[in-house]
Amino acid sequence: MTLEAVASMRASASSASAQQIDASVLRKLADHLGYVAVATHPSVLTPQLLQETEALLQERGVEVSVLRPWQKQWESDESARRAVEHNQQLLTTKKPPLWIQGEVEMWWVELDAETNRLRVIPLSRLKRWANQSLPEGINTVLPSFASVEVMLGDIPLTESSDSHERLGTISHGSFQFVGALANPTMLYARQREQSLWLAALLACTFAAGLAGLWTMRRSLLKERRLSELKSNFVSSVSHELRAPVASMRLMAENLESRAVTDEHRREEYHRLIAEECRRLGALIDNVLDFARIEQDRKVYHFAETDAAALVRDTHVLMQNRAAQRQQEICAEIQTIDPPPCIDALAVRQALINLLDNAIKFSAEKTQITVMLRPRDSREWEIAVADQGIGIPTSEQEKIFERFYRIGSELRRETQGAGIGLSIVKHIAQAHGGRIEVKSEPGKGAVFSLILPLVPMSDGNRDT
Ligand code: ADP
Repeated sequence: MTLEAVASMRASASSASAQQIDASVLRKLADHLGYVAVATHPSVLTPQLLQETEALLQERGVEVSVLRPWQKQWESDESARRAVEHNQQLLTTKKPPLWIQGEVEMWWVELDAETNRLRVIPLSRLKRWANQSLPEGINTVLPSFASVEVMLGDIPLTESSDSHERLGTISHGSFQFVGALANPTMLYARQREQSLWLAALLACTFAAGLAGLWTMRRSLLKERRLSELKSNFVSSVSHELRAPVASMRLMAENLESRAVTDEHRREEYHRLIAEECRRLGALIDNVLDFARIEQDRKVYHFAETDAAALVRDTHVLMQNRAAQRQQEICAEIQTIDPPPCIDALAVRQALINLLDNAIKFSAEKTQITVMLRPRDSREWEIAVADQGIGIPTSEQEKIFERFYRIGSELRRETQGAGIGLSIVKHIAQAHGGRIEVKSEPGKGAVFSLILPLVPMSDGNRDT
């Protein structure tokens, strides 16, 4: 029948030249011939048929590629047949399915239950299927950390790795599908991530606990220091009050009993009593102001003020006290224009505190300078410079804390309660300004009360 087909093709082809048969028709005929000769009616004549058909197509100038798959198929079928022939003895003793060794490669032989014919498939084709077609379907359902290895008989069709942990095997006919753990890192990644989060959480809790303990310890220490400072403050204030009151009483009693006959001594007693009263008054002002600040009851009354007059008056007031220690206070006063909007009483009190400290912490016969000057277009300052004992850098921040005094309370020779500078700082901040200090031990100190030129908001202003 196939020979007849070639003959008819030849006939068609010869008449084709006359009738100019389309090349596509010849190709279709050749393909059909290949199908019949290789797939449905294979015989010893098949190679000759394929050869002649190819020669014919070439003769007619038609592409021969249409025959290539059939030629390949035939070669493969031939190899299979040779392999089966070669293993005839084995196949009679052992029933398929089984692997047989061909000339070039292994072949899988099985019995087609429907046709009862042997089906022979080369290992290479099975491997191609297992490595290309199968993964495409399987990978969509398989988690990324797993892989499937396919075995047929006892021969692996896919690359199998000994390092992969085997999870389980499913058998389907002669096939075995082995599920393996290809990427344990990926499988345990989530678990590890959770462990890491837990560890981080524990670390954070531990750190928070430590921070809490540290803060608690700090606040306890601060509290202890504050209560120490407070008790120092109470004893300082008691002393500051008791000593002048006792000396004033003595002087007043002497004056009353007319025990002092010398006129000069009497005047001196009067002056001393007045001076002690002023000092006591200033101390009481400070203590009362401090109490108001602590209780948040301190109210400031802002109004446009002649700053030069304020500094001049305070300078005169403090000059007497400085004179007792043979100190001189020089004033360098510039005009502040426009007049700043301040609480005059509060600023005066701040300046008294600064001058009082300058007098206290400077030796006799030294000079103190009080300066009033604009700083720039936005700020002005009152500065007090002395030639006293100076302040170490490490203490320059602490001295503005309430009750803080440099050195041990027992060793301290100067009077004071440790609240003067904390009041100055509060006054500066209430005006939207600040207090700064520049000093070196033994080289004196310069305190600058820096205030803004811009008036305070109307809410704070006195009308
Ligand atoms: P007090 O003067 O009553 O001790 P203050 O708050 O006014 O309290 O000052 C705190 C501390 O700052 C003082 O005890 C002193 O040690 C230091 N101090 C303040 N002014 C000066 C100054 N001009 N020179 C040196 N030390 C100063």
